[in-house]
This record gives sequence, C-alpha cells and structure tokens, in this order.
Amino acid sequence: MKKNIRKKINDNAALNRDECLYLFQGCSIHELGEMANLANLTKNKGKVFFNVNRHINLTNVCISRCKFCAFSRDKGEKGAYVFSVDDVIEKVKESLPMGITEVHIVSGLHPDLTFDYYLDILRAVKKFAPQLHIQGFTAVEIHYFAKITGFTITKVLEIMKEAGLDSLPGGGAEVFSPRIREELCPKKATGFEWQEVMTEAHRLGMKSNATLLFGHIETIEEVVDHLISLRELQNKTGGFQSFIPLPFHPQYTLMENFEKPTGIEILKMLSASRLILNNFTHIKAFWIMMGLRLAQLSLKYGVNDLDGTVVEEKITHSAGATTPEDIPRLELIRLIREMGRIPVERDTLYNEIKQY
Ligand code: SF4
Repeated sequence: MKKNIRKKINDNAALNRDECLYLFQGCSIHELGEMANLANLTKNKGKVFFNVNRHINLTNVCISRCKFCAFSRDKGEKGAYVFSVDDVIEKVKESLPMGITEVHIVSGLHPDLTFDYYLDILRAVKKFAPQLHIQGFTAVEIHYFAKITGFTITKVLEIMKEAGLDSLPGGGAEVFSPRIREELCPKKATGFEWQEVMTEAHRLGMKSNATLLFGHIETIEEVVDHLISLRELQNKTGGFQSFIPLPFHPQYTLMENFEKPTGIEILKMLSASRLILNNFTHIKAFWIMMGLRLAQLSLKYGVNDLDGTVVEEKITHSAGATTPEDIPRLELIRLIREMGRIPVERDTLYNEIKQY
C-alpha cells in the first residue's frame, strides 16, 4: 500500500478512500511529513504566502449556538454585541495604515438583523476603501440569509456580490458528516447545504476557501469522507483556493471536557490534507488557532500559507486561544525565512504583491 501511495503522490494522482485512511492509520508522522513536504514543494516551489488583512466579526449573537463555539451569545446575554456600520468603518480606517488588502468578515446568525444590515456594511466598506477585497460570510451565513429573506442562494449571492462581496471564507464546513452535525450543530446549514452554497458561489465566479474542524467527536473515516467530498467539489468547480484544517479549542465551549488536539495530531492532519487534496494548491495553517510556533513548523508538513496579520480576532480567542490577535508582517517574514522558505505577500486571490 505504501509504495502505491508514494507513486500516486509523485504523480499528483488522487488517493482512493482506503489509501486516505492508511495515511492516518498506517503512516508515521515522519513519513507523512516527508511526503507532504515533497508534494508541497513540487506545487509551490518553496513559496509561503501570507496576506495583510483585518478580521471583523460583526456580531456574536447567534441562533445556532453550536456546542463547539465559545464565541456566540444569545441576544441580550452579557457580552453580546453588534457592530454598527460606523464601528466597522472605524476599524477599517485604523487598519489602512498597516497596508491591509483584505477585510475578512465572519459573524453569528443574528435573529433580528436584516439582510439590509449586511448589505449596508458591504457598501459602506467598498465606498470607504474600494481598493480592499472583502472576503466574508461563510456558506452557513449565506444559507441563513436565504432563509430569512426567502431568496434563493443564487439571488443572495448575486445581491451581495453587487453590494461589494468579493469572495467567501471557508468556515462553517466543520465536518460534513450528518451524525456530527446532528450532535454538535443541528440548527445550521447541513454539510450538503454548505457544499451547495459553495458550488453556486464558484459558478458566479466567487472564489472561496474550505475548512475542517477537527479534534472533537469525529472519526478518521468521517474526516476522510469530508476531504474526499471537498476534492470532488474542487474537481467540479475549481473554486477553492485553500484548505484550512482548524484544530478544536474546547475552552469555554459546551465541550470543555475535551482535550485540545496535540501538536502531532495537528501536523498529521495538515500533512494528510496536503496528500489527499491533490487538486488544492494551498494548505493553510491558521496560526491564530494552532499557535505561531507550530504554524512555523507546519511549513515542513505540507503547509504553504500562514494566513494573515488578522489584527483582531474574536472567535478563537473566545475559546481561550492565547495567541496574539495580530502579528506584524516582519514577524511572519522572519518565521518563514527561518524555515528556509520564500515569504510572499499575496492578495486574497493569491496574486503576488511582494516576494521577500
Ligand atoms: S460556530 Fe458560527 S454558527 Fe455556530 S454558534 Fe458559533 S457563530 Fe454561530
């Protein structure tokens, strides 16, 4: 089996389900790392990307209250907030001197905010700083907007695109398995619905990312099926830019008794993702969730993107993340160089802004 897997990886061919399972069950971290590193270097020639962006989480009020989420609040609960259009513009304004090229917007599913609120935000940001790319609204949020407006997914996306939305992040995918969603997040879009939104967004020419939340109740089989679904969707649409495996942060969630994934588990997931997703160019380590040191190390385990400078992040920090909320560009460059790789600042669509 190992020989076959190596041959397929050298040929950038798709591994079948059994081979994917074998990566997790029959390969050591060193074997995975070596193969993932090779696959990455073949594709990306030693370049490691990052962007200079600003995250804005518009509201933490959410009707879904997923068990793994420490960020969300009920309406009226202590700590619940909603940003106004002015608040958002203020945040964009204070980030412009840092040279941001992207505003990244992800929020809870608020029971009362109207669709117009989100459109007003998009229009205001575009009016204030038309040069900025707006990546925002997970497939789960888009699905929710269709529900509250009665519009089709296509219509919601078309209206948002018209208002200034440029691309979608990859959040809300969690694990597609119906068993897991029923157990952890039964109130939001299903895995199938998440994929429907992405298919439509890609058809309309909007790029997106894809994610996996791991380190909770998932089985290896469910992880592999999730990755194979993404690979198949990518074959159909070609619209995914990067894949981002997100390690679960249990603190302050309803699953506080769970242990955080270990460094080895995280590196294994990153390497296996690189190997299974042979049609994804970019595998991203979201340093906010795994810590800078491990993110740096992951560059030898299939990763070629360290996300961005972020500036303000509430979702993972609500779950006890102790990483900083921002990181200067120079620090990212240093971390990348130290691993013998080439730091490349990119825009959201992976156009190269500058090689360092
Ligand atoms: S993960 Fe997203 S949808 Fe789920 S409760 Fe948190 S904010 Fe809401």
